Amino acid sequence: MNNFDTTIDKYIEKNIERYIDEVVRLCSQPSVSSTGEGVVDCANLVGELLSEHGIENTIFKTDGNPIIVGRVQGAGDKTLLFYNHYDVQPPEPLDLWLSPPFEPRVTDDAIYARGAKDDKGEFVSRLAAYDAIMDTYEELPCNLVFLLEGEEESGSPNIAKFVREHEDLLKANGAIWEEGKLEYGDQPSLLLGVRGVLYIELLVNKMKIDAHSGYAHILPNAAWHLNRALALLKDNEDNILIPGFYDNVRQPTNEELNAFDAWPDLETDLRTQFGIDKFINGVSGNQLRYAVFNPTCNIAGFGSGYQGPGTKTIIPAKAKAKVDFRLVPDQDPEDILRKLRKFLDVNGFEDVEINVLGKMWPFTTPMDDPLVRLTAEAGFEVYGKQTLIGPLSGGSSPAYAVGGFMDIPVVNPGIGYWDNRSHAPNEHIRIKDFINGTKQIARIISRF
Ligand SMILES: [Zn+2]
Repeated sequence: MNNFDTTIDKYIEKNIERYIDEVVRLCSQPSVSSTGEGVVDCANLVGELLSEHGIENTIFKTDGNPIIVGRVQGAGDKTLLFYNHYDVQPPEPLDLWLSPPFEPRVTDDAIYARGAKDDKGEFVSRLAAYDAIMDTYEELPCNLVFLLEGEEESGSPNIAKFVREHEDLLKANGAIWEEGKLEYGDQPSLLLGVRGVLYIELLVNKMKIDAHSGYAHILPNAAWHLNRALALLKDNEDNILIPGFYDNVRQPTNEELNAFDAWPDLETDLRTQFGIDKFINGVSGNQLRYAVFNPTCNIAGFGSGYQGPGTKTIIPAKAKAKVDFRLVPDQDPEDILRKLRKFLDVNGFEDVEINVLGKMWPFTTPMDDPLVRLTAEAGFEVYGKQTLIGPLSGGSSPAYAVGGFMDIPVVNPGIGYWDNRSHAPNEHIRIKDFINGTKQIARIISRF
């Protein structure tokens, strides 16, 4: 650790109260994208905060919630982009919170509030890292771009278009994403890839109204029809049967698979958490992590007919299923949608309507990218531990919209740990994680 790093670290520790106050201020402003509650006020607050830190910024209108871009000119030519979002998940169920979700509670070692981790605390941590660098060096070694959207928790429907339309403003050589966290044992981790997603509704409408089931020998049943369509999609070993579904799947390298071997055991946790004794296809041990390279077809919900107590003898007129496909590199949700439509049509299910609710593309950063190395080195200095590298995670994010479109590496060091309760009651961050995560980001800025 050089002298500069010591000065950076001291600055962050000395000024921690200011940043706790800023997290509290942001989290006191509700900003639930699924209901719209408070999002515009929160966007304005983000702009105010950036300005207070001396960062010029613009609040852009979109077809959805505002997007904010802040920029700071540095001494070097390179530009580092921070992606964060100011919207949050709905706070319900409220009765499980130990303090109200939008009235942040600060204890000796943590801040409890909806958004404390996901993702307002992480944004403030980046402001703190920027302050620490400016205080230490008096200028930035590289340019910084802050990109904040307000629809991440609703599938980020507008970010890709925004990035395409504002390429000049956003142009960067690397990006720091959100959602970073320590794994069990306080081991730093980086997830270098996300899966894509195609989220659809399948709708069957067979009759104007439900009918008496005494007509079941002559009237069509929407539930049966949709069941048969769904049953076409997968075999008993979970292989997806849509022709061409696997065409663009890029096989993981041995290096990518082996990277998972350093990660802690997943099996025991999953067994306890979900109360199951067998995984799909009997997978166990490390295979549970390798299996993230398998794309999925998941029924997220199914509804038709009578589901109340006792009997009601009807033939359902309508049926609906929600289905999500998690896609791996280099699958394309639009290609999968075309193949699914064709498959349903040739099998006599032209009348099953497909309603697209969301789509995202997969994205990965190569494990040997210099930004990955720099981030892991900075992590080692701060935590004294090697960084666990995960080449792909199970979920999806709009990383493709920034990393894929600009063809730049994306990494996600952050301020979380394994039990932040993001999206759940009693979401919180540990103050020590805020301090360490900020020290790591400051090092990345100083050496980028
Ligand atoms: Zn988030």
